[in-house]
Amino acid sequence: MPAVSNVLVVGAGLAGTATAIGLATAGVPVDLIDVKPKVSAIGSGITMQGNGLRELRRLGVWDEVLAAGYSFDSLGLRAPDPAGTLLAEIPDARTGGPDLPATVGLPRPELARIVVDRAVAVGAKLRLGTSVRSLSQDDGGVDVVFSDGSAGRYDLVVGADGIRSATRRMIGISDEPRPTGMGIFRAFGPRPASVTRTDLYYGGPSYIAGYCPTGENTLYAYIVEDARDRSALPPAERLAAMRALAESYHGPWDDIRETLTDPATVSYTLFEALVVPAPWNRGRVVLIGDAAHACPPTLAQGGAQALEDAAVLAELLLSHAAPGDALWAEFTARRFERARTVVEASCQLGQWQLDHEQGDLPGLMATITALVSQPA
Ligand SMILES: Cc1cc2nc3c(=O)[nH]c(=O)nc-3n(C[C@H](O)[C@H](O)[C@H](O)COP(=O)(O)OP(=O)(O)OC[C@H]3O[C@@H](n4cnc5c(N)ncnc54)[C@H](O)[C@@H]3O)c2cc1C
Repeated sequence: MPAVSNVLVVGAGLAGTATAIGLATAGVPVDLIDVKPKVSAIGSGITMQGNGLRELRRLGVWDEVLAAGYSFDSLGLRAPDPAGTLLAEIPDARTGGPDLPATVGLPRPELARIVVDRAVAVGAKLRLGTSVRSLSQDDGGVDVVFSDGSAGRYDLVVGADGIRSATRRMIGISDEPRPTGMGIFRAFGPRPASVTRTDLYYGGPSYIAGYCPTGENTLYAYIVEDARDRSALPPAERLAAMRALAESYHGPWDDIRETLTDPATVSYTLFEALVVPAPWNRGRVVLIGDAAHACPPTLAQGGAQALEDAAVLAELLLSHAAPGDALWAEFTARRFERARTVVEASCQLGQWQLDHEQGDLPGLMATITALVSQPA
């Protein structure tokens, strides 16, 4: 018997849908809600590393992920010089195992659609445009009132509602994300033939300029700078600012810059970090994914870590008899240090750049690669 006989999952991002798939596949009734009216509408692309791919395969969506994305096994380092000189071509670690690519780039809306469709196909009941108005729990369950006035009682509530989690505040956890000092322009557009993997350009007028192919015909490109309040910039000026920074990057960037013409494809986001101290549960309500720990995308591990949380949580809920201390102790033991280490390494990498310090980048990368190569 699983530890729970019904579960509410709040948030249909990677963490929430993966939890819903894991539980619903095993026959546990799951309600999956999201405040957004349409979950696949979020733009741009995502770089999914091998350890995240391993979890996606476990969820039964590997063929679709592979078909929707662009896989590659090396990372290029280029100079911010007039030729975009290729400095090094580094074989990328296959952290999900030798039978998976090192990396797959995907359009975010496609990945969202794939996992949400899978959750629904295995039996999760999805309600969009819905949030939690109130939660109250006793020893036997959690009473939930939803934004539309309806109500339900659950054995467990999973707060997978992202970096600004309302569930986190509802259970009295006051930790909030902190800015790390960097901001990122991202643009989604057509893939020129010259882009067949991620290349990173360190230095120039920004800290990092890079790109990731997300399909035969698409990519996303990004430029990381000192954090600035660009929230008031009209879309056309945002595009102009990204183009101006991109002028210093060459090689494949020359092709990408040509296509940077649609203001609607460019976004700007500040980097933030968060580690909620363990445990991540208060009684029968538990936080996972960005709601519990969030990293700046310098190592592109946030999505993978969210998927790992979901996998471990679902496994424990299916193997323990009750959602009690033993289950939460094991969840903490398997997830807290691993997620914290990834967040801290992601922050460290950015901090070295902010401080214009060399830092032991190879050492840091080796530590994280070894860590995430181990199954969650
Ligand atoms: C600029 C940037 C680039 C990134 N690039 C990468 C990358 O390349 N690779 C990678 O692995 N990671 C990357 N990440 C991190 C990654 O996006 C996150 O770690 C991952 O999306 C976390 O998944 P999640 O399901 O926990 O949260 P989310 O994806 O944020 O999903 C949360 C869901 O909850 C819903 N929600 C929010 N509030 C409520 C509410 N009150 N009620 C109901 N639903 C609610 C939201 O609508 C959303 O659907 C990046 C992050 C940033 C900021």
